[in-house]
Amino acid sequence: MGRSVADIRHVNFIDNGWVQPAGGSFLVTVDPATEEPLAEFARSGAADIDRAVQSAERAFRSDWSRLTPGERSRLLFGLADLIAADRDHLTRLETLDVGKTLRDSLGDIDGVVATLRFNAGAADKLRGSTIPLGPDQIDFTVLEPLGVTAHIVPWNFPLGMAMRSLAPALAAGCTCVLKPAEQSPLSALAFAELIAKTGFPPGVINIVTGLGEEAGEALVRHPLVRGITFTGSVETGRLVMAAAAQGIKPVVLELGGKNPMIVFADADLERAAADAAMASFENCGQVCSSSSRYLLAAEIHDEFLERLTAKAKALSIGPGIDNHDLGPLVSAEQYDKVRGLIAAGQRDGARLRLGGGRPSHLNRGYFVEPTIFDRVDPAMAVARQEIFGPAGCAIDIADEDEAMAIANGLGYGLAAGIYTRDISRALRLMRRLDHGSVWINGWWMGGVQAPTGGMKESGIGRERGMEGVHNYLQIKNVAVRF
Ligand code: NAD
Repeated sequence: MGRSVADIRHVNFIDNGWVQPAGGSFLVTVDPATEEPLAEFARSGAADIDRAVQSAERAFRSDWSRLTPGERSRLLFGLADLIAADRDHLTRLETLDVGKTLRDSLGDIDGVVATLRFNAGAADKLRGSTIPLGPDQIDFTVLEPLGVTAHIVPWNFPLGMAMRSLAPALAAGCTCVLKPAEQSPLSALAFAELIAKTGFPPGVINIVTGLGEEAGEALVRHPLVRGITFTGSVETGRLVMAAAAQGIKPVVLELGGKNPMIVFADADLERAAADAAMASFENCGQVCSSSSRYLLAAEIHDEFLERLTAKAKALSIGPGIDNHDLGPLVSAEQYDKVRGLIAAGQRDGARLRLGGGRPSHLNRGYFVEPTIFDRVDPAMAVARQEIFGPAGCAIDIADEDEAMAIANGLGYGLAAGIYTRDISRALRLMRRLDHGSVWINGWWMGGVQAPTGGMKESGIGRERGMEGVHNYLQIKNVAVRF
């Protein structure tokens, strides 16, 4: 702790060194709790991306591919140790840059370390298979890394989302170019300092900052990039996929969600309400798998909302650095978006049970009160669009069929939760949910070992677990006659 981030001008990290952006332009990142500038960072363009990708390509063709899987594993374990040792500094940076509470940021950085350690352990356990073809032939598969991979991430878990794809790509033997989000570049740039210190050869991990439509698009389109992992909105995901199609590049897309929490009359209501408070308000609701719609059986509707409202009222709100329960939203843009959607809910006739505005004791910063809507019709905008703020909507359900129709009725299909004491019902409905993750009597279960990702418009591919490593491998089939 204690290192200042203000008044700093950051440049790109390429070939294990700091490199000025070719165009000489810089952007500013702002502390969302105070609206004050925190630091400047490079506004990169195609020339900077080309320099980073060329460096990654050289490393892929030379130093990195000469290492054994065991040596790659040791480097990843080494990086995990250095990040763990720098945990307090990185935690503070995430909080200042994104507005997260220190507790949330600490959880993120611990998650980064766990992700690195899982993938470090995976690096020397990747193997192909042999396929029996007859007495005079042998056929086997060889797993090979894709080459240079691009990693484009959002601002809600800056280092967490970055490492979720960088660590398996490195374990698989790829070299990488990371483009952090323009709202939150600081933790990635701080992490850059640890890359050379760990002993990674130059060019294995490069970090280039800038705008999505400039640096991000140039990265996706670069001909030497052989795989793309994009985490962000559905809208941008479509653009990334269209650009990747030009080069026939595989994409992993981790996109948005409108994740239903379905609560039946026989549920443990205290647990469901506590989970709803976490699922809607943690990280200020800025999680792809937040829940902003509760599908409630009539019998428990009032009691569930009373319990949830009491928990929401007890949350403290203020600057993340003071470790409140809720910090601010990340930016003025997100603040306007979230307030706009809440206003649309009110106009459409949903009943505001709690919040909806700016907390009266905070006159600067992008703060929004914990907000709960009742009497929400599934056709309303607030029930259909990702809110990405601290707000949830209660929707009535008559029976299982209606619950499934509403839960599956949108383009999104990221995550869903079922609360019931009837295990047969839970498993029956799990099968019917078109969502990549289904949680039963809990929310945000799973870990670095378990794959995650979206169905339908919520994404393509899975991250985490061994599935995450296989995103970065391609199969070569070898057949031999003897
Ligand atoms: P966004 O799509 O606006 O931006 C994400 C990243 O894409 C940023 O780095 C941005 O600079 C870059 N980008 C923008 N335009 C680009 C382009 N044309 N080409 C290449 N890159 C471009 O998303 P956001 O608002 O930063 O993040 C919030 C969204 O991310 C939400 O929808 C959320 O659900 C989603 N998300 C999903 C997951 C998941 O695992 N499924 C995790 C976190 C966030």
